[in-house]
Amino acid sequence: MSTDIDYSRLKDDLIIEYAKKRLIIEKKAAASNLSEVQRSMSLQMMKSIYTHLNCLESYENANSLDKALDAIDLAKIYESVDRREQEKTNTKLNYDDFVVLELLRYFKHDFFKWVNSPSCPCGSTDVSTVGVKRPDSANNPDQISIIEIHQCQKCHHQIEFPRINNPVSLLRTRTGRCGEWVNCFLLILTALIGEGKDRIRYVWNNEDHVWCEYYSSGLRRWVHLDPCEGVFDETLLYCDNWGKRMSYVIGFNKNSVVDLSKKYITKDKQIDQSSVADPSKVEKVITYYNVKKADDYLTQSKSIYSERESWKALYTDVFVPRNLERGELRTEEEATVSSDLPKGRQTGSVEWTKARGEDG
Ligand SMILES: [Zn+2]
Repeated sequence: MSTDIDYSRLKDDLIIEYAKKRLIIEKKAAASNLSEVQRSMSLQMMKSIYTHLNCLESYENANSLDKALDAIDLAKIYESVDRREQEKTNTKLNYDDFVVLELLRYFKHDFFKWVNSPSCPCGSTDVSTVGVKRPDSANNPDQISIIEIHQCQKCHHQIEFPRINNPVSLLRTRTGRCGEWVNCFLLILTALIGEGKDRIRYVWNNEDHVWCEYYSSGLRRWVHLDPCEGVFDETLLYCDNWGKRMSYVIGFNKNSVVDLSKKYITKDKQIDQSSVADPSKVEKVITYYNVKKADDYLTQSKSIYSERESWKALYTDVFVPRNLERGELRTEEEATVSSDLPKGRQTGSVEWTKARGEDG
């Protein structure tokens, strides 16, 4: 009698069993919290989570990604990437990490421009905001959220500054504040290293700032990126360097929503979370959407692959990365800010950063 055991099949069986059980348990827990989740959706914080859930979808369009590659100087970027790789000082970094580092530099210094107030055609830069108006909702290809109206203090001419959300339009205008910067940067970053993968993350902060993260295969973790500041892997930039006080920081990638507050907010700069939204309710809302994302992922996989392959993919692409990051966020050592970073926020006027409590 043969006692041969197909270990590879056995391993798959165990993985599939785990994925099935886990999804059932998580769905049950989410169902029992449903009424509480629905009630808390009236809070502004939960609305913000809801609106960002699928924010990465706009970076998945193949046509948009092609346009991003057309808009940048690829030859220049890759030449610098090659040089960085040859000079390699951090042996943990892979080729992709050098692409990200170079894109941060290129985007800030050669591509995008920060704008507080647009300058006046008369040449004066003494321009200030006088109001806002709504865009034409019937015809809004640039996905403009609001149009700021600025006035020249010298010739009194009024200049409109539309706040554009369409990342492809931003490849053309190349101006804005942190929202536009992150929006356009993420499109290019996805085109260079993230197409079809779950390794790009939009990071939203309740105190009016956004940044991003990417999953580094070299460092084997999610790495902080602030395109406006050109800063790589400095999680305490906001609290320690800018002196910014924050309540919540939430990350949104393709397959997960993650509470990153502990990663970015130091104890002394932590705004009491319950003054914004009850932390246990926020946790339940995030859990609810993560269950939904896992379920959607499975449904989508089943429409393409076999039942077995779909459960395996749910395990490998959703559950394993979530488990790894959960462990990582728990054990993360106290990070420190590099001493070579200049103090305070580098983008925006002195008055503006001061008013926002970001002047260090
Ligand atoms: Zn003027």
